[in-house]
Amino acid sequence: MAVATDREYGLFIGGEVTEPASGEVRELIEPATGEPLARAAMAGEADVDRAVEAARDALAGDWGKTSGTERSRLLHALADAIAANRAELAELEARNVGKAISSVKAEHHQAVENFRFYGSATASIGGRSNPIGGSLLFYSLKEPVGVVGQIVPWNYPLMMTTWKLAPALAAGCAVVLKPDAQTPLTAIRMAELAAEVGFPAGAVNVVPGDGPTTGAYLVRHPGVDKVAFTGSTRTGGEIMRLASDPVKRVTLELGGKSPSLVFADADLASAIPSSAWSIFYAAGQSCEARSRVLVEKPLYDEVVSKLGEHAGAIRVGDPLDPETQMGSLISLAHRERVHGFVERGAGEGAEVVAGGAVPDGAGAFYPPTVVAAPSNALEIVQEEVFGPVVAVTPFEDEAEAVKLANDVRYGLMATVWTGDPARGHRLAARIKSGTVGINMPYTAFPGIPFGGYKQSGFGRELGLETLDLYLETKSVIVSTGSRPINPFGL
Ligand code: NAD
Repeated sequence: MAVATDREYGLFIGGEVTEPASGEVRELIEPATGEPLARAAMAGEADVDRAVEAARDALAGDWGKTSGTERSRLLHALADAIAANRAELAELEARNVGKAISSVKAEHHQAVENFRFYGSATASIGGRSNPIGGSLLFYSLKEPVGVVGQIVPWNYPLMMTTWKLAPALAAGCAVVLKPDAQTPLTAIRMAELAAEVGFPAGAVNVVPGDGPTTGAYLVRHPGVDKVAFTGSTRTGGEIMRLASDPVKRVTLELGGKSPSLVFADADLASAIPSSAWSIFYAAGQSCEARSRVLVEKPLYDEVVSKLGEHAGAIRVGDPLDPETQMGSLISLAHRERVHGFVERGAGEGAEVVAGGAVPDGAGAFYPPTVVAAPSNALEIVQEEVFGPVVAVTPFEDEAEAVKLANDVRYGLMATVWTGDPARGHRLAARIKSGTVGINMPYTAFPGIPFGGYKQSGFGRELGLETLDLYLETKSVIVSTGSRPINPFGL
């Protein structure tokens, strides 16, 4: 393999790879080894200006004239190109993020399916018409919102890029996408592939850079009509503020502190290992990671101890080894942050049952960690750790389970494990989160809307609904009456 280290990655603006105006090129460090991985150009304000101008030109030119059927063809062609470049994209992603390649391959598959879904969904874009009274005909036009600034985090750069690009392009918007400065590689490669399959110049632009400077400049840019952001709740609030002058449309996919709820009547052979998978997949660096496990009291000790055993059995190591189940964290700095949560949790009365110690050796590895947390009030239960750390808390009955599930500021995902189908549906209605799984830990599928309640944001990804977030509805009203229209009787 080894595809990443032998090249330098530029910005992607106006249909081509280009150098940054500032000349800034950064060395990226491979999180799992601590060694240099590749060199990547960083965009500054002048580059964002160029990218927004290229996007506006695309909308005024070829891309703006592209029909829905042609956009569909291009999205399917891009899906094919992403599929054909699987080995390269998967390795780039695994090495850039430190994530197990077994996980990345599943994400790559979903990325392909997502482009196919929106390639087909272009057929659903259309207005409606309606005669009103005897002398008015109304019809609506669906038009792209315009130029969209999209900002994505480092945890799933490939998948987040596809979640953002596919619906925006299906709707006919032009995109300026800013990946995280640490993880720009797969987004740049996908922009190159988009150009190769025939997307007109300027339809897709990628400008990696730092958030508070380059990202904030993109959000404030008067040439950007809408901002679609995925990242932390704290930054999401800042994005809303920045997008208020000049006013623009905003959608936010933010953080989470999602629970698995395990009832005594559940099939424990699925519930416990799935609850382990739901946090340790991607080393817990997932917005929808079920970082809390709520357990009915009689089962509590058994579930805590089995989760501890499972945590110890997970194969942690080289992201490129196909047997690896969990790679490293994104960086040493992030590992320190994660470990800080565990240390403070222990100080507040939580018991570390498995993991919880920083290992020796190179790379930003952290062990799968299980913490028995007796109270919902602890920081480790309330705050998003964004690492492989799960807090396990007991509940008395169904009413308390719902109360604890909802007693956090987030609301992205919940998984209910129960043998009682009626209880599953009852809880689905009462838990305040964008997605509820009943005896099912998996989360994101093209075609199923995904997004947050409460501080987890607003807007939905992956669904048909998402298209509407990239479209304006224009109402056209026509007089069909025969009498003159002269309201003042002049
Ligand atoms: P972050 O908010 O620090 O950064 C996310 C992106 O925003 C990065 O590209 C960053 O450069 C940029 N950014 C930072 N400050 C900015 C500013 N002032 N203006 C404009 N852009 C700015 O988040 P992170 O730590 O990189 O990512 C992890 C977070 O993302 C977690 O909270 C996670 O739950 C969330 N997330 C949510 C979803 C979802 O769909 N709900 C999916 C993945 C990740």
